[in-house]
Amino acid sequence: MATVEDLMRKIEILESQLRDAQSRKQRVKIDKMSSEVVDSNPYSRLMALKRMGIVNNYEQIRECTVAVVGVGGVGSVTAEMLTRCGIGKLILFDYDKVELANMNRLFFQPHQCGLSKVDAAAATLQEINPDVVIETHNFNITTLDNFNTFLDRIRLGSLSSGPVDLVLSCVDNFEARMAINTACNELGQTWFESGVSENAVSGHIQFICPGETACFACAPPLVVASNIDEKTLKKDGVCAASLPTTMGIVAGFLVQNSLKYLLKFGQVTKYLGYSALTDFFPTMELKPNTTCEDSFCRKQQSTKKLIEKPIVEPPKEETVVHEEDWGITLVDESAVVDESKKEVAKGLSYAYEVPVSDVTSEEPVVQEEGDLDDLMAKLKSL
Ligand SMILES: [Zn+2]
Repeated sequence: MATVEDLMRKIEILESQLRDAQSRKQRVKIDKMSSEVVDSNPYSRLMALKRMGIVNNYEQIRECTVAVVGVGGVGSVTAEMLTRCGIGKLILFDYDKVELANMNRLFFQPHQCGLSKVDAAAATLQEINPDVVIETHNFNITTLDNFNTFLDRIRLGSLSSGPVDLVLSCVDNFEARMAINTACNELGQTWFESGVSENAVSGHIQFICPGETACFACAPPLVVASNIDEKTLKKDGVCAASLPTTMGIVAGFLVQNSLKYLLKFGQVTKYLGYSALTDFFPTMELKPNTTCEDSFCRKQQSTKKLIEKPIVEPPKEETVVHEEDWGITLVDESAVVDESKKEVAKGLSYAYEVPVSDVTSEEPVVQEEGDLDDLMAKLKSL
């Protein structure tokens, strides 16, 4: 049983924590981004991009709204970077709680354990930059009701109550990616997909503009070949591995390309992979599939008057790589390359076989039942 002395000591600790919390300085909101070079200006280094001719209109970032779906290892860092860059508004979606098992990644801290990820993130982000408007949704977007709310917030959630400027997928499962894909195809909403492999040593980002680029359902997802035996992932009691490095790198790529898209500078990469074991970064472009199973994707394609056959264009520039390191499809130069994978950039492969179908047919591709278990198993390891 606690003694009076123990309790007195506890009160002292709590009082000191309260004093700390009350004395924390939070800066006042700033109405207009200034390029003035003074120590007290949080935007001087960002506005310097304008003076140096990199970005013409940096302050326009304050008009932009970005939805971040999934506030885990990639999403939380993504949200922090956008907050520090002075984004106008963030809409955060997640249904998880902060746990000690998350502490190998960036952003969340042990004292936040038990809080919902969106609430914990909003509190930290608001402290970093009170100018950013933050909206949170603590729910799973894949259930019907929540999906409809998700759709509405993408359509009407911007600062001017219109569509958001960009959706960033930072989720860790196939169902949530498909839900985002469905919503964005229906709304014609531009988004980025991102992912980190279960063995923590590869990742990717993919730019998806409905009707102009391949959507998430147009072709099997592309994964970076890691040359690691998949069986090592399947053992009982072995959870997915994660590294703050790989997640931070993928978040960095994601936000860098988001900034280029939002502020119209540089070149937005359509697909950028990352292999941590060899520091290799394959890139490629993906055209939409005219026989995509998603009817809104096909509708967006006809709206944008993009016809022609699917699917994949090889990259324009060949990158020098160590050939022997690329497993699965490109084990070595003498290996027979699968016909369906011929046009995928080096170091990349599809997550599963492309279903054989008549590309001129308008019928949706039906997956044979026997393949489904195998397919789901492979997707789980993405
Ligand atoms: Zn599609």
